Amino acid sequence: MPDDQKYWEKVRSTIKKVSRSYGFERIDTPIFEYSDLFMASVGEATDVVEKQMYSFKSKGGDMLSLRPEGTAGVARAYIENGMPNLPQPVKLYYIGPMFRYEQPQAGRFRQFRQAGVEIIGDIDPIYDAETINAFVVMCRELGLQNINVEMNTIGCNKCRSDFRSQLLRYYKPRAAKLCRDCKRRIKESPLRLLDCKEEKCEQLKAHAPNLIDHLCEECHSHFKSVLEYLDETEIPYSLNPHLVRGFDYYTKTVFEVFLEDEHIADGEEGGNEKTHRRSKMALGGGGRYDNLIRLLGGKDAPAVGAALGLDRVIGAMKQQGVKVPPLYKPDVFLVQLGALSKKKCLKLYEELRQAGIAVAESFGKDSIKTQLRAADRDGVSLSLILGQKEAIDGVIIVRDMASGAQETVPIEKVIKIIKDKLGK
Ligand code: AMP
Repeated sequence: MPDDQKYWEKVRSTIKKVSRSYGFERIDTPIFEYSDLFMASVGEATDVVEKQMYSFKSKGGDMLSLRPEGTAGVARAYIENGMPNLPQPVKLYYIGPMFRYEQPQAGRFRQFRQAGVEIIGDIDPIYDAETINAFVVMCRELGLQNINVEMNTIGCNKCRSDFRSQLLRYYKPRAAKLCRDCKRRIKESPLRLLDCKEEKCEQLKAHAPNLIDHLCEECHSHFKSVLEYLDETEIPYSLNPHLVRGFDYYTKTVFEVFLEDEHIADGEEGGNEKTHRRSKMALGGGGRYDNLIRLLGGKDAPAVGAALGLDRVIGAMKQQGVKVPPLYKPDVFLVQLGALSKKKCLKLYEELRQAGIAVAESFGKDSIKTQLRAADRDGVSLSLILGQKEAIDGVIIVRDMASGAQETVPIEKVIKIIKDKLGK
């Protein structure tokens, strides 16, 4: 809606600026793709593909889906557009709408916008840290405070298969205590047991084995390096051994960026006691996806990326009272009175605009009082009043809105006079 556009403008321009300054180039992929792409990459048994994807058959009989996330399309575009032949890694960023069939609620929409960064073609752990760093910088430049990054590693195929049996050994005897979804997860994707937010599953999770204790040598040293790089920056992070994320393509490092605010509210029943309530909102997340490009038919190209939820970022900016400048702040209001004056005012408006003066109008109103009231509402410092007599005489009235003082000046000099008065 119009009132929100100044936030969107600020968010988009900040993301573009930060992405470019870290060497990312813009990519725009289609809003829908073949459903197979998401099934192969995000994973057929994931909630996003299984329950939330908008899929439909085209007139030609193809199964297509509205993209539920951005990485799959970027990975496909990388393979299909010769990017493996460019110097590696290829660093890309995107901003655009994503679609998931969810229960709409605060901060959760069926069409929402994400910005993402992807670094494809290099396994160096410094790129994991650079991705996280770029994200935190974006949030900071948008004025957000109390950002925390939760870090974990989910290992590679090798360490994960050992871990999966450990998990099953823990969960199978406790299966009766799990929620319905988790009972299914035991069979289909045991790792996702750690992602469940149900109260009873959370309790079991607290004592579940951690993958971090079962990592292979390579995954262990990769994660250690990522954390060492983060330690050199001032990025606030904490370890969350149960963070797994909802997509199948992730390997090794995974992370989620949270806004952790403390709200102070009045005590109940008008008491003086204040209650402190901590809230935690996920703004974005990401991780490594070393096997995805090969899985989709490309050459081996390890990669890392992340996506930031922009609707939530804007919600957080409002919640934290971040000030954003208006998109348009007029300096001058053009008032017209009488048929001849009205005829001339469109041309005059354009001349003022071309001279770099920010103008406003209310041309459909004929009364001077109504137009000056609109000028007040717009907060302009000057109004220009062109009446019937002025239009005939080739002059115009310049009114100082603060003092109410008025002077009549030749119309051909008005631009220079206004510029002087505005200090432009
Ligand atoms: P994901 O792609 O699931 O890792 O989500 C990354 C971020 O996108 C989340 O942290 C949210 O900020 C945002 N996001 C995901 N789903 C939605 C949604 N349905 N509505 C609004 N924002 C969302």
